[in-house]
Amino acid sequence: MQRERISDSVYVFTSELYVQVTASVILTSEGAVLVDTLLYPEETLQMKHFIEDRLGAHVRYVINTHHHADHTMGTCFFPGAQVIAHRLCYDLLDTRVRESLARTQATSSDFAEVRIVLPHILFEDRMTLHLGNRTISLWHSPGHSMDSLVCAVEEEQILFAADTVMPIPHFANGSYDSILRSIEALRGRNYDIIVQGHGEVILRGEIEDRLQEDVEYLEKLRSAVDRAIGTAPAPTRLSKALEGIRIEACGKSKILLNGAAQTLHRQNVLALAQQRRQTLYPTDQLLEGTDGR
Ligand SMILES: [Zn+2]
Repeated sequence: MQRERISDSVYVFTSELYVQVTASVILTSEGAVLVDTLLYPEETLQMKHFIEDRLGAHVRYVINTHHHADHTMGTCFFPGAQVIAHRLCYDLLDTRVRESLARTQATSSDFAEVRIVLPHILFEDRMTLHLGNRTISLWHSPGHSMDSLVCAVEEEQILFAADTVMPIPHFANGSYDSILRSIEALRGRNYDIIVQGHGEVILRGEIEDRLQEDVEYLEKLRSAVDRAIGTAPAPTRLSKALEGIRIEACGKSKILLNGAAQTLHRQNVLALAQQRRQTLYPTDQLLEGTDGR
């Protein structure tokens, strides 16, 4: 796990075990707020020791930016904290994540101590958390998943974008239209730093270019998918045409996130093809034979 202090009140922790997933702590005069936890207990516990023992801070709140396990599996290691999430996160944790944790625990001892913590404080569109000398705004930012949120420390203009901003946008478990809208909504807002859900922090001078690049990726991807559907509507030929949509042609590098970007891109292509084909040919059958699983 890597640790970086990015402002007076914020440290960012980046996993070395699972696709550079990040978690952060915001220190206030009345205690600390965690934005996500890390996937493996080993890394979340390192983070906890640093915050509690080295910084002497008490974690009052944990924000779950969305239900995915890589962001929520460590919540249980902060039993005294109130957990904040979007309204939709509650059921997703209680069903999907609970089931997948049980499956994982049946085969691996890494997660033996982990249990699901359901959020205590839920919101729909936005909420504000005042704690000590810090104001944290949270708002719904769907697309990567339908329960995704982002939050910002107003006094420092730091945005915790979670998986709304990753080195490559990823919407295969969410919605293309929503993530495009959610990324657009972050533009022109004068942030000093954006903390991504995975990968390095983005500094002020890089933010507009990066958000522009993400929007362009999504637009190029949609043009390519629509072209593939237009030229090869039959499912078997479409599958081949979709395979030809390269990540580089959409303006991103396949080496991002230690190579995981390539997998995320393939999932995006297939998910978008499903969504677009339904829009363009609503009476046709869904794609067959295009899901590589
Ligand atoms: Zn993630």
